[in-house]
Amino acid sequence: KRSKLQATTSSRLAPDVWEIQSLVINLDHGDPTMYESFWKQRAEETTVMTSSWQHISYFSDVNNVCWFMEPGLVSAITRLHKVVGNAVTEGRHIVVGTGSSQLYQAALYALSPPNGSSPMNVVSAAPFYSSYPLMTDYLKSGLHKWAGDAYEFNNEEPYIELVTSPNNPDGFTRQEVVKGDKGILIHDLAYYWPQYTPILLPADYDIMLFTVSKSTGHAGSRIGWALVKDREIAKKMTTFIEINTIGVSKDSQIRAAKILQAVSDSCDHENQKEEESFFDYSFKLMAERWKKLREAVNKTELFSLPSFPQETCSFSGRTFGQLPAFAWLKCEGEVDDCESFLRLHNIVTRGGKHFGASMKYVRISMLSRDYEFKLLTERLPAMNK
Ligand code: PMP
Repeated sequence: KRSKLQATTSSRLAPDVWEIQSLVINLDHGDPTMYESFWKQRAEETTVMTSSWQHISYFSDVNNVCWFMEPGLVSAITRLHKVVGNAVTEGRHIVVGTGSSQLYQAALYALSPPNGSSPMNVVSAAPFYSSYPLMTDYLKSGLHKWAGDAYEFNNEEPYIELVTSPNNPDGFTRQEVVKGDKGILIHDLAYYWPQYTPILLPADYDIMLFTVSKSTGHAGSRIGWALVKDREIAKKMTTFIEINTIGVSKDSQIRAAKILQAVSDSCDHENQKEEESFFDYSFKLMAERWKKLREAVNKTELFSLPSFPQETCSFSGRTFGQLPAFAWLKCEGEVDDCESFLRLHNIVTRGGKHFGASMKYVRISMLSRDYEFKLLTERLPAMNK
């Protein structure tokens, strides 16, 4: 029966040949399984062993503003930003979070006035990351409220603007759009890494969010970090995490530190031993996938993709246009609901309305395993027929 065959791909390894036609490929989430093969090759040098007596205490470094942050993770983050040149760490406090998702909520808590007459407005330019409205409002907080598309915002009132650059879902480099003087900015730089975008300058903003989920692909470790200029804000963010989860898993922090150090090492080795660095590997894979996706889309009149200006990356010296972690695909012509249309062809994506945009658009993950990506590029041109 058809329904029996429709197992989703996310929970399994490569399918049998006879299942392929009816296999549902799930490209809704940005699950970064694409990186698995690189880390398999480095399995030995990146394995972390933990004994039962280790990491028992709640505390990591009582002299740090973020007292539950492992010093080894602080060093690994600082080193990696220096190696890549994508963010200033001097004069910053680093706050670790259970993913950058927790840090987003910690930042909202820290930046919203505790006794405001009404909740603080939170905006981001559409199309915006679909989790922002959900994470801002799910507790119906008196502190902050989702106020939608930053382009539509009446800037008379105080606000927090999320600037996501490169942007999820469409991959473009962004700056703030509200022109008011009552705003506070949070820069979400989850994708400001050289496999996705040319690095132009070390980012130098007041609050910057990063995550291992998209930089190295270790989404399951749930580790993110914030680089925060103002000590009081870093303290309040730490307080939020203290109240929310009394810190962040040390086991995860130590694993993340090991992986970030391995990435920095691979960049050093590349120069010394001519080994492929993590960013070289991931850049080539993203470039290859985008080439194949564009070829597939160009074979049909049904779809279009954004195009990006070419710029030179200060990290790699390569000149290229963005290679986003998601494809922001538009259904051209008569199809008004691109998500449902692709679902009929057994491709699960996330429709434009989740991002404050038209349902003519869908967001498709570019970070899946090879065979899922291959099925996508085979199915898109076949829809013409
Ligand atoms: N910000 C953006 C722009 C993202 O795309 C994501 C992941 N999809 C996150 C934050 C959350 O990442 P994490 O896994 O670190 O919570």
